[in-house]
Order: sequence, then C-alpha cells, then structure tokens
Amino acid sequence: MPDDCIFCKIINRELDAEIVYEDEHAVAFKDINPAAPVHILVVPRKHIPTLLDLKKEDEGLVGHLHTVANEVARAFNVDKKGFRVVINCGADAGQIVFHLHLHLLGGRPLLQTMAKGRGV
Ligand code: AMP
Ligand code: ZN
Repeated sequence: MPDDCIFCKIINRELDAEIVYEDEHAVAFKDINPAAPVHILVVPRKHIPTLLDLKKEDEGLVGHLHTVANEVARAFNVDKKGFRVVINCGADAGQIVFHLHLHLLGGRPLLQTMAKGRGV
C-alpha cells in the first residue's frame, strides 16, 4: 500500500470514516462530500489505483464489489427506486483518489445525462 492512499488508511482504520459494510475483500463507507442523499463508496481492500490497473485475477473481485453495492443499496433502501454505480478512471473522469472505488448514488432522481450522450 502506498503511504499516501487515504482509502487504504480508512480500510486500515488509520483514518476515520463512516463504514457501513465490510468483509474479507471489500469495505464500504459514506462519501465525505455526498452528491446525493445516499452516496457510498465501495472499495476493495486490495490497493488497485484505477480501473486500468485491473488484472485478469481481479475479475472476481470486481464482480464482488458490485454484489456488495447491491447489498448496501438494499440496506439504504434505494434498491426499489433505483440507484447509480459509477467508477471514475483518470483525469477526464475527475478521479481524485487513486484507489479503485465504486460510487453508489441514490435517494433522489439522478440526471439522465447518459441518455443525452453527455456522460454523468
Ligand atoms: P473520485 O473522483 O471518483 O476519485 O472520487 C473520490 C471520492 O472520495 C469523492 O467523492 C470524495 O468526496 C471522496 N472522499 C475523499 N476523501 C474521503 C474521505 N476521507 N472519506 C470519505 N470519502 C472521501
Ligand atoms: Zn489504497
């Protein structure tokens, strides 16, 4: 783990966060600057900087992160009305923390910008 990774520090309990789920491979915690009423980050315990750094051996882990997101969505009651899962990769996507994470967003109608071809 790099010394300066804030998500590794949260996973290792060196930095406070509101953790809402954890298991052997993944941790989920509330985003410090929420963009929606429900904004949870789902992260692997393994330090993977970006989506582009995934290895073949990580395929199962990425699937697991999505089932964790489903579980958290149910726990926060956004499963019925719907939610969005986002992974930012690199500068143009606005990635600021270089430890792979899924944003789980819900609790309000989210803009339909994808449908207009403008991205999220
Ligand atoms: P990204 O642009 O995909 O890299 O998003 C990183 C997210 O991490 C942003 O939504 C931040 O608000 C969030 N974040 C940064 N630091 C913390 C922290 N210490 N605890 C919880 N969320 C954080
Ligand atoms: Zn990390």
